[in-house]
Formats: sequence, C-alpha cells, structure tokens
Amino acid sequence: MLKKGQIIEVTMLDDQKAIYQDDVIYINNAFKNEILKVMITNKTKNAYDGKIIKIIQADKMRSRLVCNVYEECGGCNLLHVDYPSQLMIKQKMIQKQTKLKVNPVVKNDHDLHYRNKMILGFKKIKGKVVAGLYAEDSHQVCPYQYCLLHDKQCDDIVQTIARLIADFKIELYNEDNRTGLLRHVLIRKAAVTNEIMVVIVISKSNFPSRNNFIKELLLKHPEITTIIQNINSRSTSIVLGDEERVLYGKGYIVDYLLGNKYQISSKSFYQINHDQCEKLYSKAIELLKLNKNDVVLDTYCGIGTIGISLAPYVKKVIGVEINGKAVMDAKNNARINNINNITFIKDDASDYMYKLYQNMEKIDAIVMDPPRSGSNEKFIRSACKIDPKRIVYISCDPSTQIRDIRIFNKYGYYCDQLYPFDMFSHTTHIETVCLLSRKAPV
Ligand code: SAH
Repeated sequence: MLKKGQIIEVTMLDDQKAIYQDDVIYINNAFKNEILKVMITNKTKNAYDGKIIKIIQADKMRSRLVCNVYEECGGCNLLHVDYPSQLMIKQKMIQKQTKLKVNPVVKNDHDLHYRNKMILGFKKIKGKVVAGLYAEDSHQVCPYQYCLLHDKQCDDIVQTIARLIADFKIELYNEDNRTGLLRHVLIRKAAVTNEIMVVIVISKSNFPSRNNFIKELLLKHPEITTIIQNINSRSTSIVLGDEERVLYGKGYIVDYLLGNKYQISSKSFYQINHDQCEKLYSKAIELLKLNKNDVVLDTYCGIGTIGISLAPYVKKVIGVEINGKAVMDAKNNARINNINNITFIKDDASDYMYKLYQNMEKIDAIVMDPPRSGSNEKFIRSACKIDPKRIVYISCDPSTQIRDIRIFNKYGYYCDQLYPFDMFSHTTHIETVCLLSRKAPV
C-alpha cells in the first residue's frame, strides 16, 4: 500500500502509467520506458496518481525546457515534448481524424514568448500579493514569475503591478463573497510597434489612489503606451466588463499585419501569434488564387484583418461579423489603410450567406474563419449554392473543420489536403487552413 507523499522510482509502461509492485500509477507528461522518480499525490479507486520529481532516464523526445508551474498551470500541455516532436505529434493528431492529406505543421520560428496577450490574476500568499496565471479551464490563480510563452517585458510589468497593489493597499477581488476591488490585469503588446496596453479590471468605478498608482507604474515602465480602467461588476468569469475609461494614452495599440495597420482595443479579437498569423493569412491568400475582378466574402471576419489583407488584389470584399464592436473596428481599420473596396456587415454569417443565395449574388471566392465550434449546415449549403470558384476555410479546431468538410462534400465541394500552422506552440492547439472547390484541387 502506497502512501500520499511517498517517493518511488518507476519505469513507464506507456506514456501514462507505470506499475510499482502490484499497483498502477498514473503519471502525466511522461514517455514510455522513462525511468522516473515520482511522488504519490492521490489514491483513486484502483490506482494511484503520481507527479514527476526527477527524471532519471529521459526519452529522446523529452524537452529541456523547465517551467516550475507546468503541472499546476496546465496551459502548456506539450512543454515536456521537444519542439520538433510537438510538430509531429500535432500532425499525427489531425491525421488520426481524417483521410485527407495532412501536411507537415508549419513551425513557429519563435516558439517561446510568442503570445501578444495575457490575462493575470492576483492572490495573497502569507500576506504577500503575488501575480498568477489562470490555470487551464479554471479560475485558480497559479503564482508565477516568468512564463515561457509571455513577453518578458510584460511579465516585468505584472510583477510591478503586484508590488504596487501591496504598496497602495488595493484590495483584491474575492469571487466568492464579491468583495474587494482588483479583479485581473490584461496586457497586450504589438509585435511590430512594441506598443503596450495595460488594462486594469476592477469591480467598481471607485479606484482609490488611482492617479498615484498609474504614475508609479509609468515611472517604472515608460514602455507602456496606454492604460485602461475596465469596470467589471459581473459575477461571471468573463474577464472584461462593458464600461471603460482611458487613464493614459490613446486607449488602443497599433500593430501591423502584412503591411497594414490595425488599431487594437482591449476587447478586439486579434490573433495571439503575430508571425504565424502572417504565414497563415499568406497561405490563405495563395490558395484563393485571386483575380483583379473577383468579389470575395470574408466571413467571421473579426476586425477585418483577412479581408483588408486581400482587398488590394480584388475588385470588392465584403466582411461579415456578428460582433458589432469588431465591425466598427474593421471599418476603422479599412479607413486608416485607405482601403475603399471593402464593406463590413454586422450579421450572423449563416443568415447573411442565405440572403446572398436568395438574392442570387455573384461571389467568386469565400474565406471563412469561424470560432472553435465551426460553421453549420445553413452556412455551408448557402455558400455552395452561391457557387464560388474557391472557398478557403481557416480553423482553430481541426475536428470541427473536418466535420464541416463532410457537409461541404454533400453539396459538391471537395478538399484534398489540410495545411496546419503552429500558432500555439507547447500546447495541443493548432490552426489549419484548406481549400475547397467543386473538384478536389490537384
Ligand atoms: N478572421 C478573424 C476573426 C476570427 S475569430 C481573424 O483572423 O482575426 C472568429 C470570429 O467569428 C470572431 O470575431 C467572432 O465574433 C465571429 N463570429 C462568431 N460567430 C459568428 C456568427 N455566427 N456569424 C458571424 N461571425 C461570428
């Protein structure tokens, strides 16, 4: 009988379990045949859970990267795998779900510190305020100093904020009894311009010592270009509230994607990995084989980045997006880039597609980039009836994309291969793009 806290040495039977004497021990983030020193953390009905304490003999796929909050945070669930092997694992993971050809994953040239957005929480440990990452799928604040995916400058800002919270005796918000002031901090950094936005999310509009807090923060971090106070009095886990006040700077940051300029506000959807996003969009544009006379639809268009990137190559672009704020940003983005052949419509993408089909509009090409849940039959049926030459489908969840491709097949559109892009290194997430046309492209 093993005891909680007991340390033993095991050889892994497969990637998940080891046998010690007659007991089964489940261990996360291990590889078959590795020899590990593990600590028993839990007893389940017929087995134990163990946590790696020391790696005695490592598998050749094991990464050398070390993060001391890896297990608790859970954000990087592939960090223990070396980067080239991660790409192979992701390719296989997609290939398991489809007979279509899955191309090798396009690698992230900067697989560390690539995230341009981060959301942090704070908590008190033994009276000391510490900054923390939100553990995957939970609201647990997991204390940290530097994250391998974050920008180092932004993590420094977070550490300063933790210190200022203590100095100014700002009360941390308590989700259970809904007392206290400071809920979270959101930071965004523009990859090209290096502009930095700090959003301080508080539970009520009264922020005592606000001016001195901001003054101190800017004194220590003059690299911050804008600071926003966001008021979120909701009891849900949604990070940002509706009410905002700009405390310093323009209230947005500017970034460039494929040469175009974008104003990014606190709530705008913006791809979190700048360089991989440029590669992904370039592939989408290449697959569309655009023509000067084409009319193109950019559906699920967010702040208009794809449509604006391809507008110079075509006659006209129509962007469709359900979120009104994103549509406003998209219109503004078209204006600041002097793009005049694009219009943005606030509508449900499926409803809009159905209307276009009813009105027998002529569309040459469609780009679709739906959320993780994918698209639906109404959208796909209408899109196919419109009869465009090409449809390019970008997805952040290959399983829903593969499901939707089957619906496209039903309506006579086919695809022969998927192109994966590693936007989210060290996690199991992956972005894919594919081309659909009447005949499977050769
Ligand atoms: N193409 C953009 C945004 C992709 S994220 C980019 O690359 O940045 C997906 C977008 O789909 C979000 O902006 C979301 O608001 C939008 N969306 C979600 N459901 C939608 C629907 N039913 N109709 C139209 N847009 C939708």
